[in-house]
Amino acid sequence: MSVRDSGLGTRDSDRRVSIVGAGLAGSLLAILLARKGWKVELFERFADPRRSTVPAGRSINLALAERGREALREAGMLREIERIALPMAGRLLHDEQGNTRLQRYGQRDDEVIWSVHRGLLNIALLDGAEQAGVKIHFDRRLESADFSRQHLDFVDQENRQYGHDFDLVIGADGAGSALRQAMNEVSPLGIDEQPLGHGYMELTIPPGPDGTFLMKPDALHIWPRGGFMMIALPNPDGSFTCTLFLDNDAEPGFHQLDTADKKRAFVEQHFPDAVSLMPDLDRELAENPVGYLATLYVDRWHLDDKAVLLGDAAHAIVPFHGQGMNAAFEDTVALTRLLDEHDISQATLERFFVERKPNADAIAAMALDNYLEMRDRVRDPRFHLNKALEWELEKRLPDVYVPRYAMVMFHPEIPYAEALERGERQQQLLERLTAGHESLESIDIDQAVSLARNALKEP
Ligand SMILES: Cc1cc2nc3c(=O)[nH]c(=O)nc-3n(C[C@H](O)[C@H](O)[C@H](O)COP(=O)(O)OP(=O)(O)OC[C@H]3O[C@@H](n4cnc5c(N)ncnc54)[C@H](O)[C@@H]3O)c2cc1C
Repeated sequence: MSVRDSGLGTRDSDRRVSIVGAGLAGSLLAILLARKGWKVELFERFADPRRSTVPAGRSINLALAERGREALREAGMLREIERIALPMAGRLLHDEQGNTRLQRYGQRDDEVIWSVHRGLLNIALLDGAEQAGVKIHFDRRLESADFSRQHLDFVDQENRQYGHDFDLVIGADGAGSALRQAMNEVSPLGIDEQPLGHGYMELTIPPGPDGTFLMKPDALHIWPRGGFMMIALPNPDGSFTCTLFLDNDAEPGFHQLDTADKKRAFVEQHFPDAVSLMPDLDRELAENPVGYLATLYVDRWHLDDKAVLLGDAAHAIVPFHGQGMNAAFEDTVALTRLLDEHDISQATLERFFVERKPNADAIAAMALDNYLEMRDRVRDPRFHLNKALEWELEKRLPDVYVPRYAMVMFHPEIPYAEALERGERQQQLLERLTAGHESLESIDIDQAVSLARNALKEP
């Protein structure tokens, strides 16, 4: 038997929207639309996290950068989120001997990224959505969608069914999107999922006495080991969430580490300074799951004028640029603007795709590339020489030269696609300028600036 779930049963308004997934993108989108006067209903498969514990198995903290902050600002949520976020000024690289080296993210003091707790962020956004007048239905898992009848069917944990009529449904239900699957059954969307072949496992460095941090708190820690790496981000309670990224099948690889002794020996060998700070390591190695990583490419994000996807449901990426959520947040601003300025029509939903897809593809490519940078290139002295030179160029030519990392993390006015394209041209130039040099001192900076000015003029 079907129970009508909606408090807005009649189709009395063309500014009515139903969102599936009250995760990060869904709840932020709900706030943005509600603040523009839309009637928003939000459906989430899990129970209200404000009344239960945060689901385990996902990264506990996330890096929030300027694109995400911009979207939160637009939703009036930035101040609230800043209270639960910690600034990270750079990468702290840990070598095999336990020596560390800080590599700042940017040359200005405000060029920092923020470590924010996923659960607390989601809760703040749910609170914000309710305050903005959004009706949230928890414990409602989307089971099927009938687009011709404009009808969704949800089930709760007891398998009771709930029906809901929609005008426009938005899929913010993450990488495994049920809405995407339902749309694809009606009209193939061109879905291509490319597994990375590497997985991840989360480990914890707990707080020290009185909630003190046992490592430098204002940095993103990286243990680059060539083919694999571990990273750690600080949490406000003094702990660090560490994530080990490793090939699934190679040697070393998650499959080959099939006993407790092998796992322990592996982490002790490669991350000795971190292991000494992990009292729960044996339990975590035994219990924590290995997460799956893939890039998702979808050739169409909408179905007629009835449904549209955003965030991970449309373009899940690997996490190495810390941009999946940031990109999803950018989507929410773009879609809100388009829906608010135009009729709900196929053309409007198509416009969203045309605007966002090149950027989604670009950040997908840069995220894959950043894995190589984080786990391997940061160990190469040449990488640091290139960085030093590009900072000089940025200082002298701020309108012409912005390092690609800075474009992605600190310059939301530069679309991802432009960052990728400019970054490629800049990289070729850097390789030329540093060829045959071992330090900045031997490079003629005035000449490099002049070459850069000429080479990087708009094409
Ligand atoms: C290890 C790791 C580290 C990451 N680190 C970063 C980082 O540092 N910075 C960053 O920007 N990004 C990071 N990301 C990416 C980020 O987590 C995602 O891009 C982001 O969560 C996408 O938001 P979303 O709302 O689209 O999807 P999700 O956050 O996955 O939300 C989807 C929501 O839909 C709900 N849902 C799913 N199915 C249904 C259904 N059938 N019915 C109803 N509800 C449903 C889910 O319960 C969930 O609440 C990381 C990802 C991983 C895996």
